[in-house]
Amino acid sequence: MFKIGCHLSASAGYNHMAKEIISIGGNTFQFFTRNPRGGKAKDISEDDIKKYHETAKGNIPCILAHAPYTLNPCSADPKIREFSLMTMADDLKRMEYTPGNFYNFHPGSHVGQGVEKGIELIADQLNKIITPEQTTIVLLETMAGKGSEVGGRFEELRAIIDKVNLSDKIGVCLDTCHVYDAGYNIVDNLDGVLKEFDRIIGLDRLKAIHMNDSKNPFQSHKDRHEKIGEGSIGTDAMARIINHPALRDLPFYLETPNELDGYAAEIALLKSLYKE
Ligand code: FE
Ligand code: FE
Ligand code: ZN
Repeated sequence: MFKIGCHLSASAGYNHMAKEIISIGGNTFQFFTRNPRGGKAKDISEDDIKKYHETAKGNIPCILAHAPYTLNPCSADPKIREFSLMTMADDLKRMEYTPGNFYNFHPGSHVGQGVEKGIELIADQLNKIITPEQTTIVLLETMAGKGSEVGGRFEELRAIIDKVNLSDKIGVCLDTCHVYDAGYNIVDNLDGVLKEFDRIIGLDRLKAIHMNDSKNPFQSHKDRHEKIGEGSIGTDAMARIINHPALRDLPFYLETPNELDGYAAEIALLKSLYKE
């Protein structure tokens, strides 16, 4: 089954998101666990969760939560690191209302401390929040390598995973815009990039794909998403990505600059390009 969806607003709750994604032709969705700039999460409503499970049953095989993108687990400021730690630990508790799903986060920016120090701080945080009981897989997102971002190279993600004790709870989410920006040529050499991913990280770690075209050319380290087919990656490369034997069974999430009707059109486009 082709698993395709997009990023949705979580403000009206889980059941609303489930109904919304079904209404635009999708069968999985991504959402922010709380305000993307951080802050307190809304209380989980048991009633909403119950209705969500009824709606999702047989229709939505998995979902992907996204941590606030302003968290920085490898900040030089201990207070900022502590805030990230508390937020992610709380998010992981909340994730157990929808067991067996995925929680994606941006590894962070080392802000001049150096990539090795960054990797150490990120792994340290993961070791403090991941529990053997949790059913959620925590995903490191591949980054564009903007500024001092950690995670622009597959080797950096590998190094984080190697330092995590409960590493069976860790996976990777590949963002097409980010990897292309970071210098992995998924347009002209998708096979080569995936071989490299497999050699360095292992394809068994790859759990989800963010489907974004890019406003900027290859290797520009800018991280500006574009609508499918309107950027430097293009529709043909997107079709090869969703049909690639190593990727075709993964869930795909659009994070393109769109409202719901734009997402509906992109979901329909990708479904038409997917070879059943
Ligand atoms: Fe992200
Ligand atoms: Fe992304
Ligand atoms: Zn991005």
